[in-house]
Amino acid sequence: MIPQTDPKAGYAAYAAEIDAAIKTMLESGWYILGKEVSTFEAAFANYIGTSHAVGVANGTDAITLALKACDVGPGDTVLTVSHTAVATVVGVELTGATPVLLDIDPTSYCLDSTLLKAALDALPTPPKAIVAVHLYGHPANLDVLLPFCAEHDILLIEDCAQAHGATWNGQRVGSFGAAASFSLYPTKNLGALGDGGIITTNTEAIATAIKELRQYGWRQRYISDIKGVNSRLDELQAAILNVKLTYLDAENSKRQQLANIYSTRLGSIAALKLPQTQPQATHVYHQYVIQVESATVRQALMAYLKEHGVATGIHYPVPVHKQPAYTELTTIPKRLTVTEQAALKIVSLPMYPQLTPENAELVCNRVLQFFETQI
Ligand SMILES: *Cc1c(COP(=O)(O)O)cnc(C)c1O
Repeated sequence: MIPQTDPKAGYAAYAAEIDAAIKTMLESGWYILGKEVSTFEAAFANYIGTSHAVGVANGTDAITLALKACDVGPGDTVLTVSHTAVATVVGVELTGATPVLLDIDPTSYCLDSTLLKAALDALPTPPKAIVAVHLYGHPANLDVLLPFCAEHDILLIEDCAQAHGATWNGQRVGSFGAAASFSLYPTKNLGALGDGGIITTNTEAIATAIKELRQYGWRQRYISDIKGVNSRLDELQAAILNVKLTYLDAENSKRQQLANIYSTRLGSIAALKLPQTQPQATHVYHQYVIQVESATVRQALMAYLKEHGVATGIHYPVPVHKQPAYTELTTIPKRLTVTEQAALKIVSLPMYPQLTPENAELVCNRVLQFFETQI
């Protein structure tokens, strides 16, 4: 069976180096907020191109603490999308702010930036922030978002949980907004072997606020100046991440090579919508998502592939506004047509750096066979 993702292979590829890094860290006797975390923070800030990076416990906390550090909280409105990991909305709600969910662009699957003006007109008070999700490894349209946020005095927070290393106009995502959140969950482009998250920013005051928030609101040990939480990236995960970060670019290139195989081989199937890359962007293919004509075809395709040794996924099958816990949320427009259609028709093919080109070809053969037998 070819898995859809394979975190174990992501460990096995660097096992000797990771094991050695863990041993060094274990023997150091320092397990929380030490040299491994500060080394990783400096290396990650340097990689993204920001002056600061602050490690936290996971990608959801990264969204919450980034927003809180920018003074977003109860009474504030935050615009984001419904077509995302539910964690995006969880992260917003944990600040006490109210998320408002926008529809997506049918090509990039990211926030439909043509709706921003309508959102501003529809809301009783202007939003304080926008959480722009760079979904599947492709950036949201920053050419529209940046001037819009600047003009209307709205904070831009980038949710980069799926886009470590992606660029827009040659600049890495995570360096455009007031702050940006990253998840380091095992299957992400940069993955720990457990939970982890990190926030990047060019604003020192925001970095300082996050460092306080992540550890009980301490500026000085045992003195809480503000009300914080416990959300630290631990030394063990940071030691692993210090190894894995050195391979991130090589792994993203592998993802791009695999995407290239998929796009070349599947391009002949008229009934398939393949991922597109905007001219301003580099896509890092956290997922390679195709779209079929209907939910029925999707079900048949996924079953056929499973039967022939290929696992697939759906990212995501139920939009956030359709989930029981979130039916009360405001959406703009009222019906998120593009989001709802996408949720019915998208399929994620196997995608991870250790997937071999031969196996990607095999996936293509199976998909092609399915569409041949369909006719
Ligand atoms: C994974 C993910 C998150 C949450 O990350 P965790 O580390 O699981 O908390 C947030 N947003 C998006 C878009 C994600 O894919």
